Amino acid sequence: MKETSTYGAALADEKKVLETELESVGRRNASNPADWEAVPQETGQESDPNDRADLMEHLGDNTAILNDLEIRYNIVLAALDRIEKGTYGICEVGGEEIEEARLAADPAAATCKAHMNA
Ligand SMILES: [Zn+2]
Repeated sequence: MKETSTYGAALADEKKVLETELESVGRRNASNPADWEAVPQETGQESDPNDRADLMEHLGDNTAILNDLEIRYNIVLAALDRIEKGTYGICEVGGEEIEEARLAADPAAATCKAHMNA
């Protein structure tokens, strides 16, 4: 069994950071906690049509940021889940052990170097 405590701590830290970042641009979907929705940034003057356009622009920005954060967040959650199940550090494609160097570079890695682009 792989020593996972260091990676587990790194993943838990990253999860916290990602949650903070997600909450700054979005909110959790009440009916699906794994899903996040972008929220517009407050401008304080939503009645002005020009500001409304700005608002939509902000919402577009937030959606792109949120999508990236959400993808990473779910990768981190999946890695934490693998630690729970005792399958952490096993390549999801080929079933071999993931290199220590790869896990050190990305504790959420789900594949070995050979399969990282599979
Ligand atoms: Zn592999």
